[in-house]
Amino acid sequence: MRIETIAVHAGTDVDPGTGAVTPAIHPSTTFERDPDGSYPRGHLYARNSNPNRNALEECLAALEGGEAAAAFASGSAATSAIFQSLAPGDHVVAPADAYHGTSRLLRETFSRWGLETTFVDMTDVAAVRAAIRASTKLVWVETPSNPLWKVTDIAGIGELARAAGARYVCDNTTATPVLQSPFRLGADVIVHATTKYLGGHSDVMGGAVVTKTRDRFFDRIRAIQASGGAVPSPFDCWLVLRGIRTLPYRMRAHSANALAVATFLARHPRVEAVHYPGLPTHRGHDVAARQMRAFGGMVSVQVKGDRARAMEVTARVSVFTRATSFGGTESLIEHRASIEGAGTRTPENLLRLSIGLENADDLIEDLDQGLA
Ligand SMILES: *Cc1c(COP(=O)(O)O)cnc(C)c1O
Repeated sequence: MRIETIAVHAGTDVDPGTGAVTPAIHPSTTFERDPDGSYPRGHLYARNSNPNRNALEECLAALEGGEAAAAFASGSAATSAIFQSLAPGDHVVAPADAYHGTSRLLRETFSRWGLETTFVDMTDVAAVRAAIRASTKLVWVETPSNPLWKVTDIAGIGELARAAGARYVCDNTTATPVLQSPFRLGADVIVHATTKYLGGHSDVMGGAVVTKTRDRFFDRIRAIQASGGAVPSPFDCWLVLRGIRTLPYRMRAHSANALAVATFLARHPRVEAVHYPGLPTHRGHDVAARQMRAFGGMVSVQVKGDRARAMEVTARVSVFTRATSFGGTESLIEHRASIEGAGTRTPENLLRLSIGLENADDLIEDLDQGLA
């Protein structure tokens, strides 16, 4: 089955009791048991499982071509579950430009848990090889990465992880399963912030861990999900599943709009640099063209000038909304350094654009008058 069909159908059937074509929302926290104490209908207590979460998990696993998925209350909760599966003393190799919440978890929370982390430029194979130790249990990649949309060679780094006997995790939030298939490129585990494109409408937080095989590692993730309880509500699961129904078509439109905007910005006299993997001038373009089906909806632009000039552009646009996050139908503009705060390496003249589903010409005209 192709991804458009999976996105529309996976995880739900017509309800045999009512004929309802779309799934019901089951807010029940508890489920009736049989007189002998068994629960043959599969559910016992909603922290362990519930119908809406099962439907979403089945769909997420199918979208990525994995055997199992666990849904969480946010991308960060999914990320935490993966780190919680490790033991004190284990070593993690993570990208120097990992999503800032991920690197903060490793630096501030999981360092106290006893995890050791080496942050490294994932586009530098020699540096990754040098970072791997005997105690390395996990190699984490995220591609394209924030906010320069650097592209990691998933298969290439995967070979190093495999040789080291380390579990190989890919954060596929930015690319989505529509544009990139990390399991086919050697990943063992895929993590998502479903808050972004999978939900797709800026109205639900969520995360997921998807595994290539239903193995002991997945059992561990499932146990952490059930006992830790960082689970999405039934309505959250319903919203993410509803978002996924249109994901393949949205990703095509996000990608086409982003390429048009990036191409326009690259020629603009008041622009210093544009970062978009779809531009042939981007450092990661060749790898991206090999491992992605299109280049996604995220574009960063460095304007000529300083922080104040960048802020001025955000004040002048009107179709774009000044807000963080990405993946919704509406276009967003963000001064990235100021949200990342002290210690950020993001240039002060950089604006991050989440390109939405408006008409590309309206976005281009808005940016053009904003840059004037
Ligand atoms: C947003 C994001 C996360 C974290 O997801 P939340 O739902 O905000 O916790 C993780 N990784 C990437 C790449 C993200 O963009």
